[in-house]
Amino acid sequence: MMLYLVPTPIGNLSDISERCRRTLAEADFIAAEDTRVTLRLLNHLDIKKPLVSYYEHNKTQSGKKIVERILAGETCALVSDAGSPAISDPGEDLVRLCAESGITVTAIPGPCAAITALSISALPTGRFTFEGFLSINKKARRAHLESLKNEVRTMIFYEAPHKLTDTLKNLSETFGPERRISLCRELTKLHEEVLRMSLGEAMAYYGENAPRGEYVLIIEGASVAEEEPASVDDALSAVQELMDTGLSKKDAVKQVALQLGLPKNELYQAALQI
Ligand code: SAM
Repeated sequence: MMLYLVPTPIGNLSDISERCRRTLAEADFIAAEDTRVTLRLLNHLDIKKPLVSYYEHNKTQSGKKIVERILAGETCALVSDAGSPAISDPGEDLVRLCAESGITVTAIPGPCAAITALSISALPTGRFTFEGFLSINKKARRAHLESLKNEVRTMIFYEAPHKLTDTLKNLSETFGPERRISLCRELTKLHEEVLRMSLGEAMAYYGENAPRGEYVLIIEGASVAEEEPASVDDALSAVQELMDTGLSKKDAVKQVALQLGLPKNELYQAALQI
């Protein structure tokens, strides 16, 4: 009685792990986003298994049936067309449904386009935010981008080739043409490529070259705002603290002015009130 999330290759079939192969072979049935795509993978792995379809437009009905079967004692392996199930593809709802029904859900680690792209983007990876696909609805897209205007973390977007040019334009309008972007395409495939440039350069490049293949866009975050200069009140408190330890006013002012980058004479004038 278990749901396994089984990641599948995002291009290179050798990326299927031994554990994924065994889980698919041992599951009672496989829930797949597109049964034809999964059948090709199963044929490659020489695995024969009953498939049920679970995708965006049947997920409510299909999800209920899957949960009933698992509760009756079966084990289900969930796969999407490529990559990690539940990351920008159906699966999220099934995981929630199973969790609510007391079913154990476990995920096998494996290919995910977002993380693969981030790791080779050459942009900061310490803090990042996954934004998935931008909506095709103009208002929702604008609101989404607007919410990211001051984002300082590296941002990850998914995009399809036919929408890339418009998306680059919108990204450039939001973040400015100087902002760095790494366009990672066809990851793990023969024509894998990473273009690292500014948004302005990316727009110019794709004005001349037609986008091809699947893309992950990694965008540099906004520069962290300069630290606020220390206030005179803060400086005077620091001077007072040093004087309390026995330092003369003159020495305390000298030290605090140096530490906080404030003009010594002005701080001394202010410190006369102490
Ligand atoms: N769940 C998947 C994962 O873990 O990466 C993502 C599914 S989402 C529906 C598909 C999107 O992932 C594509 O439109 C593209 O943005 C990205 N993607 C998938 N495979 C890719 C690849 N080989 N190279 C670049 N991007 C890829």
